[in-house]
Amino acid sequence: MRSYRQPHRTANGLIGAVLGAMLLAGCSLGEEPAVSQADQAAGAELHPQLLAQFGGAYDGDESEYLRRVGKSIAATAGLDGQCTFTLVNSDVVNAFAVPGCYIYLTRGLMGIVNSEAELAAVLAHEVGHIVGRHSQRQQSRSLWRTIGVVAVQVFTGSDRLTQIAGAAAGLFTLRYSRQQEYEADDLGLRYLHKSGYDPFASIDMLRALGQHELFLMQTRGRDEARSIPEWARTHPLTDNRLERAQGAAEDTGVPRGALPEREVDYIRAVDDMLYGDDPEQGFVNGRSFAHPVMRIAFEAPEGFTLTNSPQAILIEGPGGIRGEFAGGQVPAGGLEEYSSVLLRALLGEAPFAITDVRAAQVNGLPALFTSARVRSGKGEAGLTLGAYAAGDTAYHFVMLSAPRAAAPAALDELLGSFRLISPEEARSLRPRKIEAVRASAGDTVTALASRMAGDNKLAHFLMLNGREPNRPLRPGEPLKIVVFDGPR
Ligand SMILES: [Zn+2]
Repeated sequence: MRSYRQPHRTANGLIGAVLGAMLLAGCSLGEEPAVSQADQAAGAELHPQLLAQFGGAYDGDESEYLRRVGKSIAATAGLDGQCTFTLVNSDVVNAFAVPGCYIYLTRGLMGIVNSEAELAAVLAHEVGHIVGRHSQRQQSRSLWRTIGVVAVQVFTGSDRLTQIAGAAAGLFTLRYSRQQEYEADDLGLRYLHKSGYDPFASIDMLRALGQHELFLMQTRGRDEARSIPEWARTHPLTDNRLERAQGAAEDTGVPRGALPEREVDYIRAVDDMLYGDDPEQGFVNGRSFAHPVMRIAFEAPEGFTLTNSPQAILIEGPGGIRGEFAGGQVPAGGLEEYSSVLLRALLGEAPFAITDVRAAQVNGLPALFTSARVRSGKGEAGLTLGAYAAGDTAYHFVMLSAPRAAAPAALDELLGSFRLISPEEARSLRPRKIEAVRASAGDTVTALASRMAGDNKLAHFLMLNGREPNRPLRPGEPLKIVVFDGPR
């Protein structure tokens, strides 16, 4: 969530745009080119919206490096000059491809990859999805997946609520079939090899992603890890997939290590790259959110998950509770005006009945709680709006709960947790970055890991560098560590 925004600013209908792009892209199979003119037009239209949704582009040397590697892979795949590669400012580990050959890779993924060849393997896999026209072929499946979203829309007639309900159903969760994954793996391996990289890097890449998945499970708890829209969610990693990749790499006849992986170039390229949360968007740590610039924090109850996006923090809870946290300016009419403007923006033409309005103090801040029932011909949903004033700035939760369910106690807990943080606490929320290091003679894994910022130092170091615990360091070996950015 970024530092400032209007309370009712709506990002322009992402879901509609995605569906539109898929329809535009056409559903005929067979003779279609990998990137048709219609695909290109749809991709170009979707591009700025996707960037806004997923944290914007991350500029810097790393993104230039990514573009350079991507271009050469695209050329090998027969798509010279037709693909757009973008590094996304998100610490979620993911990559995805959109018709029109718009390919996105997060800095989270770039952080855990260990060589140029592994990066090329990810990009070649995504180009494989484009060449296979996989998004277009799974159109009917994605329509099914958005059914839940559409139901909310029919139910409330509100685009904005639909967007909140469907935010998690965006492209990060677009899943391909197993067969499509295999095809993308096979095509990707071919492009990787033809571009002159070690084909075994594709296995290293799959392993690095698997190791990251395991790290998340161990450090964040299984349920929470499962809820994060990581690459492993959208590209299920099975043993079979690893075996297939191994077999395909062997079939090239190139011995392992005969072609370059370019570890040194890669590690140098990601030196100084932001790692973890961007302080401009705030820090999500498990069920807690804290923003060092806005100096605010809240904590969601057990069973809830938080996802940071530039527009808002998306909140999901048990029993289908969904909502968001965002902020804006306190208008002249105070929290009452703020809440009513927000409700109008959220609900549009949908009929609703306010059931309760209550002024309160929450951790020393003036707050206004509004409960409403949103009606349609088909039923009801409960809406809870909590708005807070901190100086000139207003913040709010808007939560939607299942039809006819009484607002659960968990919502009270969430709404009661909003607070300001002290300057000291804000200073403790420090951004981290990747630092490129070379192992020198006598260095140990434990010694290097102890320089890592944050918890789980050893496990984090091993995951970040794709290492087994007992493999000794080789002098001169390029490695990554994560350190706090800027002066203490
Ligand atoms: Zn894939």
